[in-house]
Amino acid sequence: MKIREIRTHVLETQLAEPFAYSQAWYDRRGAMLVEIEAEDGTTGWGEAFGPARLTAAVVQHYRPRLIGADAMATEAIWQDLYNSLRDHGQKGLPIEALSAVDIALWDLKGKLLGLPVHRLMGEPLRQRVQAYATGFYRKRGGQFLDNLVAEAHQRVGEGFGAIKLKLGFGIDDDIALCHAVRAAVGPGIGIMVDANHAYDATAAIRLGRRIEELDIAWFEEPVPPEDLAGYAEVKAALRIPIAGGEAEFTRWGFRPLIAGRLVDVLQPDICAAGGLSETRKIADMASAFGVRVNPHVWGTGVGLAAALQLLAVLPHNPPGLHPLEPLLEFDQSEHPIRMAVLNAPIVQRDGWVRIPEGPGLGIEIDRAALEQFRVAA
Ligand code: CA
Repeated sequence: MKIREIRTHVLETQLAEPFAYSQAWYDRRGAMLVEIEAEDGTTGWGEAFGPARLTAAVVQHYRPRLIGADAMATEAIWQDLYNSLRDHGQKGLPIEALSAVDIALWDLKGKLLGLPVHRLMGEPLRQRVQAYATGFYRKRGGQFLDNLVAEAHQRVGEGFGAIKLKLGFGIDDDIALCHAVRAAVGPGIGIMVDANHAYDATAAIRLGRRIEELDIAWFEEPVPPEDLAGYAEVKAALRIPIAGGEAEFTRWGFRPLIAGRLVDVLQPDICAAGGLSETRKIADMASAFGVRVNPHVWGTGVGLAAALQLLAVLPHNPPGLHPLEPLLEFDQSEHPIRMAVLNAPIVQRDGWVRIPEGPGLGIEIDRAALEQFRVAA
């Protein structure tokens, strides 16, 4: 079966209420979906993390290499596309675009064979995963502690057993938030914190020491992704597990993080790090070095479905009667496009999400939603 066509869908919409993390304010959210069509009309869908118009342009650059290629040859296509821009983009946009193509090819392969991606990968190891709620962004109105404590109560009320707080707004603010939320939710709820690389190692260690007593599940992106020595310092200094990797790409990019054990929890984004093919390789490398993997997810239901397919196949590390299970990052912040592009939304119940069982990624795309959110590429 050959590839007949490849299309990019650049989507964008205004948010009802702008929100901020440590690096920027958002008043719009977008997505870039890739649709690959086989000769028989079957289509597969993928998503790229990153600036939608730019990743779409890279996919268009890849297009001539894809038309007429063997639709089942995920690995050969990955290597061909990677090599085609190897000298010009070993990280960033070319790999984000490649990720969307790779995810779409796995979805297509599954749809052609009538099997979910996790079956094609020889699993599942699990039928459902526990989700944690990402959110806790800063809004313009009100007092931030009141807003975020209210959000914590809301997420716990919805069934989430773990929540991730956005830090990086100044050490004193961050510490006040962590103490207020722990006091509000009590000891039974998991709390992760994420600075989105707002600090240098010295500041991150100072912050970490003052929240260590709160039983923080992990401290994510304490320092910039390029600062590997900083990661090593922070990890050595704190008792809180350190997480990172959402701004890293491919097996070669992840190699120093894994081999140096610079993080306790590795967070490749399937829509950025190289797709399902590459993220599985990264996870296997992490397994060999005893590093936990919890994929980063921040896109639409397409990226979420891809993450669920990979989560179904992540090995227990180590195995046992009561092994530690990987977690699903489930963004709860405003994203009008997230579930609108799916015919049936992905939902959590009591903090758990089922692995989709349908062919490919296990989702169907709502084309009316694509038209609703489409913007000029
Ligand atoms: Ca993050």
